[in-house]
Amino acid sequence: MEENKPLSELTTFGIGGLARYFCKVQTLQNLKEAITFAKEKNVPFLILGKGSNSLFLDEVYEGLVIQNKIDSFNEVAPGTFHVGAGYSFALLGTKTAQQGYSGLEFASGIPASVGGAIYMNAGANGSETADTLISVDYLDEEGNLKTLKKEELQFSYRTSCFQRLPGAIVAGTFKLSKSLNARSKQLEIISYRKKTQPYGDKSAGCVFRNPECNHAGKLIEEAGLKGMRVGGAEVSNLHANFIVNRENAKADDVLKLIELIKKKVKDHSGVELESEIRILP
Ligand SMILES: Cc1cc2nc3c(=O)[nH]c(=O)nc-3n(C[C@H](O)[C@H](O)[C@H](O)COP(=O)(O)OP(=O)(O)OC[C@H]3O[C@@H](n4cnc5c(N)ncnc54)[C@H](O)[C@@H]3O)c2cc1C
Repeated sequence: MEENKPLSELTTFGIGGLARYFCKVQTLQNLKEAITFAKEKNVPFLILGKGSNSLFLDEVYEGLVIQNKIDSFNEVAPGTFHVGAGYSFALLGTKTAQQGYSGLEFASGIPASVGGAIYMNAGANGSETADTLISVDYLDEEGNLKTLKKEELQFSYRTSCFQRLPGAIVAGTFKLSKSLNARSKQLEIISYRKKTQPYGDKSAGCVFRNPECNHAGKLIEEAGLKGMRVGGAEVSNLHANFIVNRENAKADDVLKLIELIKKKVKDHSGVELESEIRILP
């Protein structure tokens, strides 16, 4: 258990104030103990994966941030993988494609944890996390571990029922099918991503959800906003739906830039953009 942990160290954006309490959990038992600690201290807690979709505010979070590092990986039947929520989603995509399994090739470029990908129903290239998911191991607020079947869960575009639930995703089970093209498809996806997204920069991926039948990045670019800056936060010149932390940006800079983008896109095209990134706490 650490105190006064800089939140900027926990996200790909590299932004945020301090967490009053912080710990990493590597087992289910660790996770239960961490939640008990928060209850005993009477403070809120939040679960973090790889912090690749999260913007922490600049102030102190008077609670416990639990970084999920439960990173088990087991092929429980041919093509069926039971994977800890702290396992790298990108590695899962690469490893399964290397083994000739199709369904998670899109994951190979997404810097997420498996838990974060399930929570956000992360997706790309016409596929999403829920497509191959068959069940989720979930620890509820009372400390009960349940295996929830896909049929009991709700997923839609970048949304899951877990966004309304207070517990923690512990693991996911995915069922993939054999394909001769899996590895080549995965390599194609990763090479395209590297050309079209600002990989070397600090960001939280796409800031806005794509409106129906449109692309947020295209609308932002058409409004002439590439390169626009507030403080240290800048609209990427490579992909307009990314905000990058160019120079010690504050959460406040990012939030102001988000509001400015929303206003200018609304004025230019009439479309109201909606944020995809999670503003924490
Ligand atoms: C360069 C880059 C490219 C990206 N490309 C894509 C893309 O192609 N497609 C896409 O969909 N996204 C993309 N993203 C965004 C991001 O990777 C995804 O949203 C991802 O699902 C977030 O996973 P994470 O583990 O980093 O979640 P975090 O940012 O750690 O957390 C996100 C939310 O999930 C909750 N959460 C995390 N783990 C758990 C858990 N175990 N139990 C309960 N709640 C949990 C957190 O509390 C938070 O509210 C990209 C991001 C970057 C930086």
